[in-house]
Parts: sequence; C-alpha cells; structure tokens
Amino acid sequence: MRVKKKSRHRKAVKFYATCFGFREPYKVLIDGTFVHHLLTQRLLPADEALRDLLSASRTPALYTSKCILAELRRLGKSHADAFDAASLLATTKCEHEKVVSAVSCVLSLVGDKNPEHFFVATQDAELREKLREIPGAPVMYGLKNSLFIEQPSVQQRKFAQLDEEKRLNMDISEYKKLLKAASEGKAADNENGSGGEQRERPISSLVKNALGVAEKSKFKKNRPKGPNPLSCKKKKPKPQSSLVQNQGAKVDGESKRKRVRKRKKNHKDNKQVQTAD
Ligand SMILES: [Zn+2]
Repeated sequence: MRVKKKSRHRKAVKFYATCFGFREPYKVLIDGTFVHHLLTQRLLPADEALRDLLSASRTPALYTSKCILAELRRLGKSHADAFDAASLLATTKCEHEKVVSAVSCVLSLVGDKNPEHFFVATQDAELREKLREIPGAPVMYGLKNSLFIEQPSVQQRKFAQLDEEKRLNMDISEYKKLLKAASEGKAADNENGSGGEQRERPISSLVKNALGVAEKSKFKKNRPKGPNPLSCKKKKPKPQSSLVQNQGAKVDGESKRKRVRKRKKNHKDNKQVQTAD
C-alpha cells in the first residue's frame, strides 16, 4: 500500500514538473489549517515530512503569507501553537495592504498560472476545490497522520495537453470554455464535431498522447530502422537460384582481390601485384 501511494505521489510531482516546470527545491505554500494539522498529528519536522511526500532530494522551502498569519492570530488560543509555528516560516510577499482571508490570499498568490510554482498545502476543502481549476496548482493535504498530494485534476490534465504556443496565446474565454468542457467530462472531440472549428483540432489530437508521449520520448531507443543499405547492395542482381551462393562468393573473392591490389598500390608495391596477376 505504502509503496503504491508513494508512486502515485511521484507521478503527480512528475506531472507538474513535466507540464508546468516545477523544479527543486520545491516551494510549499502552507495555510493555517495545514500547520494546525501538522502540529496535532506531530508530523514534524514539517519540511522533512514534506520532502518525503514529494520524494524530493532537497528539502522544500515552506512559505506562509501575512494574511495567513493574521487569520491564525484571529483564531486565538486554540490556534496559538499553529500561529507560533507558522511565524517561523518564510513569508511570501502578497499584494494585500489590508489583510484578506487566507483563502483569498492563497488564490491571489497562485493566480491564474501559479508563476511561483507553489504546492499549496491546505485542509480547506473549498480552497482545494478552487485550486483544482487552476492549471499548474498542485494541492497537498493531510488525513490523520498521512500526507497526500492530490492527483492532477481533469482540468489540469486537459490544460497540460495543449501545446505551449496554444497555452500562451489562449485568451480567457477560450480557457474558460476548455475548463468547462473538462469539468463536464466532455471530450474536446465532440465539440469539434458540432462546432466544426478547425482551431480546436490540436486539443483532440493531443488528448490521446500528450502526457504519455512526453514521458516515453525520453526513453526512446535508437534502433536502426532497416537493414544497412551498404550491406544490401551486392544482393540486388539476382541470378538463378542455384548459383546465388557461388556467384556471391566469386564476387566477394574478386572484390577482395581488388581491395588487396588497391592497398598494395598504396604501399607502392606495384611489381608484386603485377606478378600476382
Ligand atoms: Zn495576502
């Protein structure tokens, strides 16, 4: 079980690394609910627990924000330990002069494209749901004394299947349409059929092989694609079947002799060659 869980986590991390450019040391944005969970379940030290979860070779960097800390402080005594622990983490800079709720702050930090490549660790189910709709936003959470990385959502997978150019040039209405189609579980192919839009085509063709191909191409072997054309040349003229072997041998013998002659000429042993003939 444990091994299986770990490989699922590895796959998820690999997905975000391959499709969204996540690189070590990973950054984890931790909200108050998650800090509280880490403390109550004694999943400490947290950075080691998260490094293990990510199967990372380097310890991930853990962040909170000013707004997350403010919310923890507001929760008072019940979350005093969590506030103290969270205060020791690095604070990522958010744009809020006046503090906002932790959820709003996390969402604004992640934005549309999660440019900082945060893994977001939270116990807040609503926040997790919202994050699933953002393309490159991986989510972590805890269940009792186990930590999990959510598998990439349908929307995230769909988005990853687009090629890079399409992603960059996509306007917001197109993007929302895609998310809607993904969350309704519709294949992009169906839309193509009814709408007849050629532009949508790349989605459907990429759907089939987007992730698999990206991973497989790394391990593609360099095999010769056919017989060596140089070795085939001599077989071309096909005489009668019974003679094939003998003639072949003859040709071989002649060519060998010629080769010898050439070599000897190169060595300026002309006289010997002439006598041999
Ligand atoms: Zn904020």
